[in-house]
Amino acid sequence: MPDCIFCKIVTKEIPAKIAYEDAHLVAFSDINPKAPVHLQIIPKEHIARVSELTEKNADLVAKLVMTANRLAREYGVAEPGYRLVINCNPGAGQSVYHLHLHLLGGRPMKWPPG
Ligand code: AMP
Ligand code: ZN
Repeated sequence: MPDCIFCKIVTKEIPAKIAYEDAHLVAFSDINPKAPVHLQIIPKEHIARVSELTEKNADLVAKLVMTANRLAREYGVAEPGYRLVINCNPGAGQSVYHLHLHLLGGRPMKWPPG
């Protein structure tokens, strides 16, 4: 297992503001938020990047997205809208190599992203 900051959030070795947790997932506030609501939804299993997902992870991917949708409603950003982002590899700006789904909301979002 690599030295992984998000694995350490899963094991509570480093603190985070946890928004949701179950047997498979943790959701927590981003430490450097880019929007009024900025959560990370992550699998407890260490998967480095979205491109490493396989068919055996199909249920996990569904849980990630469904959890993000539910948290968007709970945090009051489902209307007028929110953005789910997964950055893959350095060219897309991935900086933490443990799969994470960004949930961003609470302000207007520009398109295309930078
Ligand atoms: P990415 O650039 O897509 O890999 O996103 C990584 C995200 O993790 C960034 O938005 C960081 O602000 C966030 N982040 C890094 N360290 C922590 C931490 N200890 N707790 C919460 N969020 C973090
Ligand atoms: Zn990890």
